[in-house]
Parts: sequence; structure tokens; C-alpha cells
Amino acid sequence: MRTLNFDVLTLFPGILAGPLNESILKRAQERGLLDVRVWDIREYTEDKHKTADDSPFGGGAGMVLKPEPIFRAVEALKAGSPEEDFFVISLSPQGRVFNHREAERLSRERRRIVLLSGHYEAIDERVKEGVVDEELSIGDYVLTGGELAALVVIDATARLVPGVLGDEESACFDSFGTGLLDHPHYTRPADFRGMQVPEVLLSGNHEEIRKWRRRQALKATLLKRPDLLQTVDLSDEDRAVLAELEKEIQQE
Ligand code: SAM
Repeated sequence: MRTLNFDVLTLFPGILAGPLNESILKRAQERGLLDVRVWDIREYTEDKHKTADDSPFGGGAGMVLKPEPIFRAVEALKAGSPEEDFFVISLSPQGRVFNHREAERLSRERRRIVLLSGHYEAIDERVKEGVVDEELSIGDYVLTGGELAALVVIDATARLVPGVLGDEESACFDSFGTGLLDHPHYTRPADFRGMQVPEVLLSGNHEEIRKWRRRQALKATLLKRPDLLQTVDLSDEDRAVLAELEKEIQQE
């Protein structure tokens, strides 16, 4: 058994508490597959007001997170362990965009992954120089703080660790797991307000079900994310199905 380890640095630990204490992430921690330590940056301030931010040199709007508490917090979380046991990621809209491939990479990480969440206008640039190994963004938009981004990274990465999901196979067939988007899913009732479940799924014929699902995954990808088809490994059968689907779509 292997444990995926995160340390999250934040000014608002409460934002992380709910999601980390529910459902699959909670169970993964209870089973020792995931370890998340949350560090309150404010605890590493040294004045009586616990000041973690200040106005920017040069003027302008917004507050900047001060370097000292962040350096001290990183030093505290690394204390007693070799430097090479840690890998520090700053969550930033300026980082490389986090996607399934990045989640796979992090899920294989043996070091503790330190996620630094900023807030307000920015983090003092010297933090990047002094403690950060890389920057990651969760998309081309700006959040009020890095806590939600940290949760996205933890959630998407942890579910790829063997054993975290009840049925390990379910991550393999999820969107992006196969390189394609996922096929549609149905559950009981077979007839809901006149909307029927596709006949093949009720047939019990596993080979036909496999083919139908693959076809639906190819169709969803072709319609919604054709860019993914450039990089996915396609069999001859897949190519034949795609050619049929392209014809069908043109005729519609
Ligand atoms: N002034 C910064 C800029 O434009 O690059 C944005 C700061 S943002 C308001 C505050 C914090 O939210 C950032 O320090 C970062 O930790 C986090 N954040 C915002 N958008 C993010 C994104 N897309 N991905 C990851 N973290 C993000």
C-alpha cells in the first residue's frame, strides 16, 4: 500500500475542512491511502496581530502575502525530514494548466506535495525564488484564493491512487482515463417517463455492451472534444467506428 502525501499552506484552513472530511477523500485518509496536513500560514507570523499580508511596494491595489510567514511555515513542515522528501507547488493562474496527465504524474509522486495557496492580490515574488519548485493553475480564470485549486488538485490526484476508489476500474474508464470522454451511464428504472435505456445494456451480452460503450465514448469525444482524438491510441476497430460516426454526423 502506498500513501499520497500533501501539505497545504493557507490563510484559510476552514475552506479545506469540509471537502477533506467527506466521502471518498475522508475514507482514503482513514485507510492511510491519503495524508493531508493543513498549515495555517498565520500561525507563522510573529506580531500580535498575526499579520500575513501587507500593501505592495510601488503602490497599487490589493494586498501581498508577506514572505516571512510562508518561509517559516515551509521550514516547519519540512523540519526533521530531508529536503528531497518535498516538492513545493504554488497554485497560481500563471502556472502550467493542471489536467488529467498532471494528476497522473502527481499520483505517482513519492515526495510530500506541498501546495501553497495564495490569497488577495499576490504572494511576494521572493517566495517563488526561495521555496517554490513549480507553479500550477487549475484553469484560465482567477479565483479569490488557492484553496479551491488545492482541493481540485488533491481530489483529482487522490482518486488515481490504487485503492482510493472502491472499484479500481472505474477510474480507468472515466473521461480522460482512456484518452477519450466517458460513455453514457444508466441505472434503474429501465423506462423513466418514457425515456428508455438502450436495449443493448439490458441484453446481458458483454461483448456487445463493450462495443456499444466504446462507440459512445468515441462519439462523445468526436462531438465534444475532437482534439483528444489526436493523441489517443486508436485500434483499427475504433477508426472504422469513427469513420461511420463522421458519416452519420454529416447526414444529421
Ligand atoms: N494577481 C494574481 C494574478 O493575476 O496572477 C492573482 C491572485 S488570485 C486573486 C489569489 C490567489 O488565488 C493566487 O495567489 C492563487 O494561489 C489562487 N488562484 C487564483 N486563480 C487560480 C488558478 N486559476 N489556479 C490556481 N490558483 C489560483
